[in-house]
Amino acid sequence: MFRHIILTDSMEHVVIIGNGISGVTAARYIRKLSDKKITMISAESKYFFSRTALMYVYMGHMRFKDTQPYEPSFWKKNDIDIVEGFVDSIDHEGKSLHFSDHSTMSYDKLILAVGSKPNKFGWKGEDLDGVQGLYSKQDLELLESNTKNCKTAVIVGGGLIGVELAEMLLTRNIKVQFLIREDRFWGGVLPEADSRLVERHMRKHHGLQLRFEDELEEIIGDETGRVDHIITKNGEKIDCQLVGLTAGVRPNIDFLESSAIETNRGILVNEDLTTNIEDIYAIGDCAEFRVPNGERKPIEQVWYTGRMMGETVAQTICGSHTSYSPGHWFNSAKFFDLEYQTYGWVWNTLKDDEAEFIWQNKEKELLLHFVFDKNSHVIKGVNTFGIRLRHEVFDHWLTIKASIEEVLTDLKAANFDPEFYKRYEEVIISEFNSKFGTTLNVRKRSWWKNTLNKLTHANDA
Ligand SMILES: Cc1cc2nc3c(=O)[nH]c(=O)nc-3n(C[C@H](O)[C@H](O)[C@H](O)COP(=O)(O)OP(=O)(O)OC[C@H]3O[C@@H](n4cnc5c(N)ncnc54)[C@H](O)[C@@H]3O)c2cc1C
Repeated sequence: MFRHIILTDSMEHVVIIGNGISGVTAARYIRKLSDKKITMISAESKYFFSRTALMYVYMGHMRFKDTQPYEPSFWKKNDIDIVEGFVDSIDHEGKSLHFSDHSTMSYDKLILAVGSKPNKFGWKGEDLDGVQGLYSKQDLELLESNTKNCKTAVIVGGGLIGVELAEMLLTRNIKVQFLIREDRFWGGVLPEADSRLVERHMRKHHGLQLRFEDELEEIIGDETGRVDHIITKNGEKIDCQLVGLTAGVRPNIDFLESSAIETNRGILVNEDLTTNIEDIYAIGDCAEFRVPNGERKPIEQVWYTGRMMGETVAQTICGSHTSYSPGHWFNSAKFFDLEYQTYGWVWNTLKDDEAEFIWQNKEKELLLHFVFDKNSHVIKGVNTFGIRLRHEVFDHWLTIKASIEEVLTDLKAANFDPEFYKRYEEVIISEFNSKFGTTLNVRKRSWWKNTLNKLTHANDA
C-alpha cells in the first residue's frame, strides 16, 4: 500500500515524524513561511497535546481534550496533513518512509521530532504488569488502569517526572515510597540547600516517603505476572501494586538503528539541526548537538527548547539558513506547591571560580540562590524557590554581565510580587552586606522602571 500524496514538481513535500511541541512548531512555522506540502506523522495521538499537562488529566483538573491547544479543524485549515502510524524505517536513498502497516510515504525533506522515552536499565521484573513509566498518552491510560486497586506505589528515580507522578498518586490516596539513589533530592542538578528545601516541602505531604541512597534491585511479581513487591539494593522489601520508573528519559530512536543516520545517545545534529544525511533534520528531545552550545547539554529535553528548534528548522527549510541559538539557559518547574525557576548556571556544586549568596526564609519556603564570579562578581545564575523573577530582566542581566551587587540593589525590577520586596528587600541586602562586607542599599529611585519598560516593549516587538 502507498500513502498517496500527489506532488507537482514545484511542490516540496516536508514530512515531520512526531507531533509533539517541536514537530508542530516546525509545521506551523513552515506553513507561515511557505506553501510547501506538509505531513505530520504520529504513533501516539492524532492531534498535538500538551505533554506537560498530562498530570492534570489524571488529577481531574482537565479533560484530555483540554490539553489540545488547537481545534482539530486547525490542521485542515492550515493545510497540514495528519497521518497516524508508526514509522519502522527510513530509506534515505529512496527518500521514503516505511510504516509498521507496510505502507510507505515519500518525502523531499524529513524532520525527525520523535521525542523521548522513559529509561529502563534492565531491572529484573521491569516488564511485569503494574510497572511503567510516565511519558505518553498511553502511559496515562495505563496508569489509570494500574492504579485502580493500588494502595502503595514505589517510584524509582527522583527527578521532575517522579515528583509529578508522586503528586498524582497522592491525590488518589496512594502511599508513595520514593527511591532516590543520591543522598538528596535531585542532587545531580540542585545545590544542597536547594535540595533540602524541596525535601522539606515534599515531606509535608502525608503519604510520601523519601528514601535516599537506595536503589531498585529487583521487582517481584505474583502468580499472575503483576507486581507484588520490590527489593531494594539495601535489601529491604516493599510491598506495592505499582512501580513508576522515572529515572530519566532518553531519545526515542530505536527505529533508526539500521539507518544510515548517525546517532549517539540522540540523533547527532549540527548547529543548524542538520543530520549527516542530506535533507534530514532532527529537533526537540531526540536531537543531540555534536558541539553543545556553550555550557548547555548536548541533549535538551525541555518544552521551550523543542519549540525553539522547531522555529529554527522551519527557517532553514524555507530558505533562510538559521542556526539554533537558544540564548541564556532558563527553566522552571513545580515541586507540589513549590515553584522553582532557574536562570543562567547554578551547578549542584560550586566551581572553583564561583561564589554564592543564598538567602532563605525557611518558614515561608522562600529561597534565592545566586552564583557569581568570585573575582569579577559578574552574575552567573540564580535559582529561586517560592519567588518568581521576570525572565526578561534576569536574561538582560546575564547579557550585560551585571554584577551581583547591581542585581541585588535592583532586584525589585525582576520581581513579580511587589509585596515580597516590601517585606524582604532590606533583609536580603543586609544579609549580603554582612556576609561580604559591603555597604549596599536597595536602590529606591533607580533605572529599573525605565529598563523594565524597554525590555518589555522589546519583547512585544
Ligand atoms: C510528564 C511530563 C511532564 C513534563 N513537564 C515538563 C515541564 O513542566 N516543562 C518542560 O520544559 N518540559 C516538561 N516535560 C518535557 C517535555 O514535555 C518534552 O521536552 C517535550 O514534550 C518534547 O517534545 P518533542 O516534540 O521533542 O517530543 P515528543 O513530545 O515526545 O513528541 C514526539 C512524538 O513522536 C512520536 N514518534 C516517535 N517515534 C515515532 C515513529 N517512529 N513513528 C511515528 N511517531 C513517532 C511519539 O509517539 C511522540 O508522539 C515533561 C515531560 C513529561 C513526560
